[in-house]
Amino acid sequence: MKIPNEIKMGGHTITVTIRRLEDNHGYFDAEKLQIHIDSASPESIQNETFIHEVIEAACFFAEIALPHPNIQSLGLLMAQAICDNQTKETA
Ligand SMILES: [Zn+2]
Repeated sequence: MKIPNEIKMGGHTITVTIRRLEDNHGYFDAEKLQIHIDSASPESIQNETFIHEVIEAACFFAEIALPHPNIQSLGLLMAQAICDNQTKETA
């Protein structure tokens, strides 16, 4: 999966930065509308983290207080569904 430099969600632009993080694989900064992903993480972890943080952002905008294990499970499933399935050939 190619992680985008920014995403639009609910009329807002969230920037996505891949850089060295010391403490975690990534996080969503709701105040600055930024997603940060650790550049040292393996590619599969970066992909999963990106999807995880997109779900965190969606929960923020929708004011949905999902328990973090639910966000983690959704992130794993969504990342696998997006990353492990081929794009259909268009005729
Ligand atoms: Zn999280």
